This record gives sequence, structure tokens and C-alpha cells, in this order.
Amino acid sequence: MDASFLIKCIDEVNNVIIKNEKEIESLDRAIGDGDHFINLKRGCIAVQSINHELLSLNNSQIFQKIGMKILSTVGGASGPLFATFFLEVSKKIKDSENELHNFCEGFEQAVNAIKQRGKSDIGQKTMLDVLLPVAKTFKTNIGDNIDRRKLLDAIDAEALKGVLATRDLIPTKGRAAGLGERAIGHIDPGAKSCQLMINAVCRVLKDIEDKK
Ligand code: ADP
Ligand code: MG
Repeated sequence: MDASFLIKCIDEVNNVIIKNEKEIESLDRAIGDGDHFINLKRGCIAVQSINHELLSLNNSQIFQKIGMKILSTVGGASGPLFATFFLEVSKKIKDSENELHNFCEGFEQAVNAIKQRGKSDIGQKTMLDVLLPVAKTFKTNIGDNIDRRKLLDAIDAEALKGVLATRDLIPTKGRAAGLGERAIGHIDPGAKSCQLMINAVCRVLKDIEDKK
């Protein structure tokens, strides 16, 4: 992991968000206020605007800088939660040889920090319905002899399972909570955007594996 890898991930995340504008927007229009895509796009533009500044930083500094940028530019409920993710990873991530294990720990810690900040948990029809199962799958599939492809496939599959599961849930956190049972049948927009972003990063990593 280094700045150029992370910049590649940021580009791919931006691409996947732009490509799925209609779906993300209509999901948030159905059970929220329709601004989730705008919030994500604002975040992507803000982070891309500091790409050049990331090149001279170590991994921890990069995550911290991205987190601060998101915190100061992205509003809504999701902005501070996404910022929390990056700021927490920055506390854990090091430039080390064992960086996959290191990032796995950081990811788990960051998802737990979102849980704390959002006072939310699995089953409440939020982004956590994707992030918590993914953190668990990440941890359980990361043994001593890691099959990276298998790990990435498992993470991808778990994220998809998590997002689809939100369809049948009654929201009890965030803007959608007021809808109660009327939200059943709709996928949570934040869960969808997280699944898309996780899928984009997995794709970058799979490309690297293919080139080995
Ligand atoms: P807002 O809800 O303020 O309009 P966004 O539309 O950008 O902000 O984000 C909505 C998403 O944020 C939801 O779909 C949900 O996944 C996530 N979310 C909202 N509140 C919480 C919370 N307390 N904990 C975890 N995720 C939340
Ligand atoms: Mg919204």
C-alpha cells in the first residue's frame, strides 16, 4: 500500500459512484432525502483535489488527510461517518510488511468507530449492514497463508449479501427511520454505496493479483 495505490483506489471509487448515480440517488429519494449521491460526489471531488499532496505522505498520514478533508467538506449523516472511517484507519495503519493484517485490524477498528459515532449496529438498515459483515469476513479469511483472490471474492460476496439484506429490514437509524415498515422493499443507499466502493477497491486489488 502506498500513495499511488490509494490514488488508484480513489479514482476507481469515484468512477463507480459516478456510474451508479441514478441508482444511488433514487435509493436515497425513496427512503431518504435524495442527496446521498451528491454527498458522495462532493467527497470524491474533494479527495481527488488533494491527490498530489498525498504523494509525499506515509499511509497513516494519507488516511488522516483524507478523513479530515471528508469531515470538512461532506455533510449529511454519511459525511462524518465516512470521515470517521479514514481517521480511525489512520490510527492503526503503518508502512509495514504485514500491511494486509495491519489494514484488516484498522478496518475493523474503523467500522466499530462508525458504530459508536452513529450509535448504530447491524440490522438497522444502514451502511453497517455491509461494513460489519465485511469486517468479520476480512478477519476470518486472513490466515497465515492468505489466498488473496479467495479473500477478495469472499469480501465482495459478503458486501453484496449485506446490501441485499437491507431490502427487508425496517430502518431504525438515520433519516429512513421515520418511515418504519414503509421502507421495507427498499435497499439502503449508504449500504449500496459502501458495497460499490468495496467492490471497486477489490477490483483494483484483483488487477494487481492478475499482474503478478
Ligand atoms: P442524510 O441521511 O443526512 O441525508 P446521506 O444521504 O448522505 O445523509 O446518507 C444516508 C446514509 O447514511 C444512510 O443510507 C445510512 O446508510 C447511513 N446512516 C445514516 N445514519 C446512520 C447511523 N446512525 N449509523 C450508520 N449509518 C447511518
Ligand atoms: Mg440523504
